[in-house]
Amino acid sequence: MVAPRIERKTEDQLRAMRAAGLVVARILEQLRQAARPGVTTAELDGLARAEIARVGAVSSFLGYDAGYGLPPFPAVTCISVNDEVVHGIPGPRVLVEGDLVSIDFGVSLAGWHGDSAITVGIGELPAERARLSEVTRQALWAGIAAVRAGGRIGDIGHAVEHSIRREPVRYGIVAEFTGHGIGTAMHMEPDVPNLGRRGRGVPLTTGMTIAIEPMVTLGRAALATLDDEWTVVTRDRSAAAHWEHTVAITERGLWVLTAADGGEAELAARGVPFGPLGD
Ligand code: MG
Ligand code: MG
Repeated sequence: MVAPRIERKTEDQLRAMRAAGLVVARILEQLRQAARPGVTTAELDGLARAEIARVGAVSSFLGYDAGYGLPPFPAVTCISVNDEVVHGIPGPRVLVEGDLVSIDFGVSLAGWHGDSAITVGIGELPAERARLSEVTRQALWAGIAAVRAGGRIGDIGHAVEHSIRREPVRYGIVAEFTGHGIGTAMHMEPDVPNLGRRGRGVPLTTGMTIAIEPMVTLGRAALATLDDEWTVVTRDRSAAAHWEHTVAITERGLWVLTAADGGEAELAARGVPFGPLGD
């Protein structure tokens, strides 16, 4: 359920969210390294489940109720392979060379949520799939770089969209699913669309934390949902990529809470102020 308000966090609350974000970053890195030919998606989910327990966090996904009478989500990760776009349910599927796998993962720690997604190639990827993932990752960082106090939510979608549209390949940009505010719940206001107009939408202010998450397809962006009621696929069965980070606006700049380095390197490359909070 979407909580109907925009939270603005204190500095101590942002530090608490950074702790949750670092748990997400570390476990996602373990999953990235474990995603190899011959591994099942259920095995990856089991690894994540064990790590969550080990560090004393709580899954943001397990038992998630989307509120439309759907079954509660049965895993701690969403693992979406090839034409699966988002919300794939881990299971007996064995990953094989050439698969394009998005892993979406979130936890709460002391009541504060972090949410992030990566796309991983299994073994050697066909060039067009490798490029799709990199274009999506670049679009995520373009969206992050557009965030600033005094800006608007539409600045983010504009930057994401422009980053993808300037490519020579005509990719699909998923519009049905968006990023979101995040904090005491995983999904909060405002929505953060991946298409947009600069200067439009909810104002961005210090203390806001949002998840930005472009979903991009090699073919058309039209979607369908499988009979499991969760897994979202492309209608034309083209491959999809998905990257996500949770980002905080601090007094000094941006703090990418789910990036191991807080976003320092990618923000510096884009000339954007890096704004971590000290102890
Ligand atoms: Mg996510
Ligand atoms: Mg999200």
